[in-house]
Amino acid sequence: MKAKLYYGSTCKEKKEYKEVRSPYDGRVVSSFGVCDATDAKAILEIAHHAALHVKQIPLHQRTNWLLDVAQKLERERERIALCITDEVGKPIAFSRVEVDRCIETIKLSANAILHVNGETFDTTAMPSGKKSLAFYKREPVGVVLAITPFNFPLNLVAHKIAPALVAGNAVILKPTSQAPRTAYELVKLFIESPYASKDALSLIYSGEGVNETLITSEIPRVISFTGSVGVGREIMQKAGIKKVALELGGNAATYIDVSADVALAAKRCAVGAFINSGQVCISLQRIYVHESIYESFAQALVEETKRLHVGSPYDEKTFIGPMVNEAAVLKAKRWIQSAIDEGAKPLCGFTYNGLLCAPTIMADVNESMAIVCEEVFAPIVSLIKVRDYEEAKNKMNASDYGLQYSIFCNDLAMAQRAIDELEAGGIVINDIPTLRFDLQPYGGIKQSGVGKEGPYFALLDDYTQIKSVVIC
Ligand code: NAD
Repeated sequence: MKAKLYYGSTCKEKKEYKEVRSPYDGRVVSSFGVCDATDAKAILEIAHHAALHVKQIPLHQRTNWLLDVAQKLERERERIALCITDEVGKPIAFSRVEVDRCIETIKLSANAILHVNGETFDTTAMPSGKKSLAFYKREPVGVVLAITPFNFPLNLVAHKIAPALVAGNAVILKPTSQAPRTAYELVKLFIESPYASKDALSLIYSGEGVNETLITSEIPRVISFTGSVGVGREIMQKAGIKKVALELGGNAATYIDVSADVALAAKRCAVGAFINSGQVCISLQRIYVHESIYESFAQALVEETKRLHVGSPYDEKTFIGPMVNEAAVLKAKRWIQSAIDEGAKPLCGFTYNGLLCAPTIMADVNESMAIVCEEVFAPIVSLIKVRDYEEAKNKMNASDYGLQYSIFCNDLAMAQRAIDELEAGGIVINDIPTLRFDLQPYGGIKQSGVGKEGPYFALLDDYTQIKSVVIC
């Protein structure tokens, strides 16, 4: 099925289409119109003009727009879940969860905008202040450029376009080339809604000169990017004077204290490390375990991991489907082999069948191995024995990344210390760091990014700007 472009509300065909193949069985599952700088320039102009009228659309129409899309998405749940599974190989049960999350994200955005307001302040607080009516209001920023990754190809699109549109902006979406059809299906629902603002949303795909033209243009006032650190850095360097929000990679870790419920921790850690084949920015990659429970935890984790079904993403019981492409598998194999060469030991996994990778638990690792200190983005987790919380904290905080960390303990003082001391955008107590509720503020520090998503917080940080007013 072809994923076409949208020049604003106008659907466009292209001469050349690039095929997308299923990571599971290599079937052609979709194709996208190959774009170029001419498409990018035309779409930028359309968005520029649209931004002037989108902000005039009454707010009730914009919120109805989102609610209408959410309702239609509920009816299309199965078809769009299948689309995700076709394009990125996500197990079907989790693709359905992603559609459900996307519906929530859109509804949350419609609700969040109602809480984004200005406030008045008293200028006589300063001796030099003259009595006046001073306040600030929030306005849309104009044009937003949204660039999204492959691993949550529907919900991460919604996290950008829903709050940006409801705030009254025009949006240009450039989704991952691995899942153009998933993005197209969602954009189509937005554009065909009877409540749609004309030309407010455009859809463009990769091609010669597209990134450069979009990123360096003065027209977008905000670029909201989710993806790898390397691409994020490149965008930041090229963007010029405009706001750049970056949701980048992570290297999530947890600490299992001696006071923790070991069985619960092992069960949850198997989920956190291997869901979506480890292709989650908050995938659990490092598990620091108190030395006195290390052996029992390792055994329980191996048992829990062996229960996870690896196989066809179309099979209802599959937990781990294929990785996204061969390059990702080769990188995982290389990094595991290099760790083994330096003395690490696989406790389970380390077998492959095409792009299906068995979940791998590595022991006897050290902090300088790539599987420990880099983002692996594969079903690999490392177990590391520590003396106490203090050592685990120091090792977690030594990372270049800072997206989410967690701790399992039954010790309130330790939990409070973890909340204060762990250097990350989010901390979870007594569950995996792989936990995200779509309404929460979400985003990393250090190399993991700049800014926060979660509809309300993205509205404040990225999709509205403050205008200060004084009436004398
Ligand atoms: P990626 O960086 O390869 O690609 C992300 C997007 O950027 C894609 O749409 C791609 O087409 C586009 N892109 C690639 N090169 C570009 C360039 N030079 N200029 C502009 N756009 C360009 O990432 P990916 O492989 O799709 O996704 C995996 C990465 O995303 C991981 O590092 C993961 O941690 C990260 N991620 C982060 C979050 C978060 O919220 N922090 C969420 C999901 C994924």
